[in-house]
Amino acid sequence: MDTRRHFLKGVLASGAAITTAAVAPPVCARETHNRPADALGLLYDATLCVGCKACLTACKTANGLAPEFSTADHLWDTPLDTSAYTFNLIKMYRNGTMETKDAEVNGYAFMQTSCMHCADPSCVSACPVSAMTKDPVTGIVAYDPDACVGCRYCVVACPFGIPKYQYDSPTGKIGKCELCRHRYKDGHYSACAEVCPTGATLYGKSSDLLAEAKRRIALKPGSLTRYPRGRISGPDQSYEAPVGKYLQHVYGEKEYGGTQVLKLSGVAFDKVGMPNLPPTSSAATSETIQHSLYGGMLMPIAVLGVLGFIAKRNVHDEDDSAGNGKGEK
Ligand code: SF4
Ligand code: SF4
Ligand code: SF4
Repeated sequence: MDTRRHFLKGVLASGAAITTAAVAPPVCARETHNRPADALGLLYDATLCVGCKACLTACKTANGLAPEFSTADHLWDTPLDTSAYTFNLIKMYRNGTMETKDAEVNGYAFMQTSCMHCADPSCVSACPVSAMTKDPVTGIVAYDPDACVGCRYCVVACPFGIPKYQYDSPTGKIGKCELCRHRYKDGHYSACAEVCPTGATLYGKSSDLLAEAKRRIALKPGSLTRYPRGRISGPDQSYEAPVGKYLQHVYGEKEYGGTQVLKLSGVAFDKVGMPNLPPTSSAATSETIQHSLYGGMLMPIAVLGVLGFIAKRNVHDEDDSAGNGKGEK
């Protein structure tokens, strides 16, 4: 019994010594990361979208994704939401008589849904095995199925509900848009932008796309302008068309610390399914909390302190018992 008591007292003494010796460094709040200078992305302009869903079909073809049926006849690929087999979806907003496109009242509008390629992605921050990574040059948030352990932390962490798990497979993986990075080596780019007939989905450097988005919202509704198609810096495929009614808001410029996929709309973004998000990423907040707790070994020392307190109390209890003649001889 003496041995056990000495051991516990030793633990207490060591804990106290470590606590005294440890000097916690000042904890700095981690800033939200910015987009890389050459970040790549998409600009989706809902006022140009005609809802043809060519982008959805091209995305499936480019990524070898199986169709998903929501009708009894199983004739058409009709996914109702993004999934591990549908990385890009066009959703529709409807109100009242649906007479006017891009009008909130008695109108209708489209909105595209896919990975936003956040400047500071929480899926990357949450992944314990670095299966989700952000390229330091292009900023593309990529997924490595070989590294993935299927924990689905990324699914929970994403504020846009984008990474989806293959629940129908015993060795399920995550599915999400990787900006068609596998097509670049053949001179291609995002399939959704390549096929979009109106340029509603446009591919390019995020900085160029942001400048183009700001140019558009500054134009007078009804005036004529040229809209590029395909890639913003590629061969000229532009056409002239009247300017729609834009909200004075480029979604993704600031939301969540900025995203590489940007959006324009005539209908309030929260009405077309885009979440209201602060200008900081939750990755910055959670990593700051994590580093505050573990910085300078504060959390482990606190845990050791609590364990020490419990051990000390038990040793006292034992001593008291021994003193009462009920304990060891
Ligand atoms: S291909 Fe272009 S116009 Fe057609 S649904 Fe997609 S974004 Fe809209
Ligand atoms: S939208 Fe979601 S999955 Fe895509 S980069 Fe941002 S956090 Fe990750
Ligand atoms: S960039 Fe490629 S993977 Fe992403 S939504 Fe477009 S077609 Fe699909």
